[in-house]
Amino acid sequence: MTESPWMTAAADFVPEPGLWIGGELRDHASAGVLPLLTPRDGSTLASVPSAGDAEVDDAVAVAVQTFTSGIWSRMGPTERGQVLQRWADLIAERSEELALVISLEMGKPVTAALEVEARAAEKTIRWYGELSDKLMDEAPRGRVDALALVTREPVGCVAAILPWNMPVTLLSWKLGAALVAGNSMVVKPAEQTPLSAVLLARWAEEAGLPTGVLNVVTGEGAVAGRRLALHRDVACLTFTGSPRVGKQLLAYAAESNAKPVWLELGGKTPFMVLADADLDAASDALAWGITFNTGQLCSAASRAIVAQEVAEEFVESVTAKLAKRVVGDPLDPATEIGPLASSQHRDNVLAHVRRGMESGARLALGSAEKDPRDGWYVEPAVFTGVDASNLLAQEEIFGPVLSVLTAESLDDAVRLANDSAYGLGSSVWTSDISSAHQVSRRIDAGTVWVNCFEEGDMSVPFGGRKLSGHGADKSAHAIDKFTHLKTTWIAL
Ligand code: NAD
Repeated sequence: MTESPWMTAAADFVPEPGLWIGGELRDHASAGVLPLLTPRDGSTLASVPSAGDAEVDDAVAVAVQTFTSGIWSRMGPTERGQVLQRWADLIAERSEELALVISLEMGKPVTAALEVEARAAEKTIRWYGELSDKLMDEAPRGRVDALALVTREPVGCVAAILPWNMPVTLLSWKLGAALVAGNSMVVKPAEQTPLSAVLLARWAEEAGLPTGVLNVVTGEGAVAGRRLALHRDVACLTFTGSPRVGKQLLAYAAESNAKPVWLELGGKTPFMVLADADLDAASDALAWGITFNTGQLCSAASRAIVAQEVAEEFVESVTAKLAKRVVGDPLDPATEIGPLASSQHRDNVLAHVRRGMESGARLALGSAEKDPRDGWYVEPAVFTGVDASNLLAQEEIFGPVLSVLTAESLDDAVRLANDSAYGLGSSVWTSDISSAHQVSRRIDAGTVWVNCFEEGDMSVPFGGRKLSGHGADKSAHAIDKFTHLKTTWIAL
């Protein structure tokens, strides 16, 4: 393999780990340090200070104090929007730096880190910045003797707890919607991705976000995350991560100040291929949809539900395409599938493959053996003959492991698709418009993609149902989560 410019940049990279509180980088914290290893080869990238109760309390106090001061919460919407747009400009200018950090932290192929993550952060912050002075309140016409105003107000200190898989995209969705509304924030990034979150926060301040509006506490979920979620001065909590932790956060809210908790949890996306589908286009989309981000995607196309009469041909096509996907160093631009984010996660994915092999399903591609390379690489795996109750059809594996089920009819495909605890994404492939409509009406999921997969835009919400959570991110709707409604009556 030839040395790529990204590898040269990585060799010169000097991480600056720390907590970002009140505009200062703190390189020490009361809960010690956490080693940050790069999935690329398992070597140590940095030692990251781990926030304890004291630092979380400081960050919340700073956020509350800045909120109350009005320096951001009462800034004019045009000016506030301009700050966000300057921030987006900085992200665009420094996108290569951001992409390198993301790739080193969690192993995403650097081209995707640049073209998907850094681009998403820029677009999201710009989109909310442009929206800032176009938001409207309401003056309903119900009464002639009085005027009612229905206004939206920021809630105060918003806490955001994030996962590692799309660290900057998901963070920017929370930041854009909460900040444009005038809130202050404390962010707790995942243990695996502490550097990118702090970079974004520092650049925000350079762009003119007042000091103390956006704070980042790095550290462990069970320590810093827990303290934040239990904090009585946190007015609202937004979370993306696993159902296990999501449920715990609801309990923390109940135990503390009954704060609203918005949850974006996992998924087990059904990818339905009807008998009249364009099989080549569908298998292209699926081969990408189960391996993008090494399958570490809440909406990964992990559950193919294929019409019986085309199942053999379709599985052959998708397996052949998956076998050609290039697994390798995330800093090599030729790499299509990078390593998994941690050695524990790699072991967990391989354990699922092993359990799948023992379950009676047939392994058509892949293996449960450890990859001999340093770093946490896995080959894609495909299971056929999976029945609906199999763990392969029910559990979120969060790796490049595809399970194929077969359906006898359209009704059977819908029944199988809905036979899941999750309800995030779904995809249906058919050349018949009425089948497409029938399926999309009956699927219990937040998003239905018809003859496409992972389409998205900032104007469109993304969120789930059932165990996938509630309260969508993106679009103007997301701002509602971070605002209170206020009614004011004026006698006329
Ligand atoms: P995770 O739930 O283990 O961790 C997420 C965050 O929660 C981390 O910052 C972690 O430190 C923190 N945390 C852990 N324990 C905590 C506690 N007791 N109190 C407070 N915070 C705590 O999830 P993960 O492994 O980082 O990410 C993978 C999961 O995220 C998958 O289930 C995936 O489907 C889900 N996800 C969902 C979406 C979506 O939009 N629906 C998007 C991406 C990822």
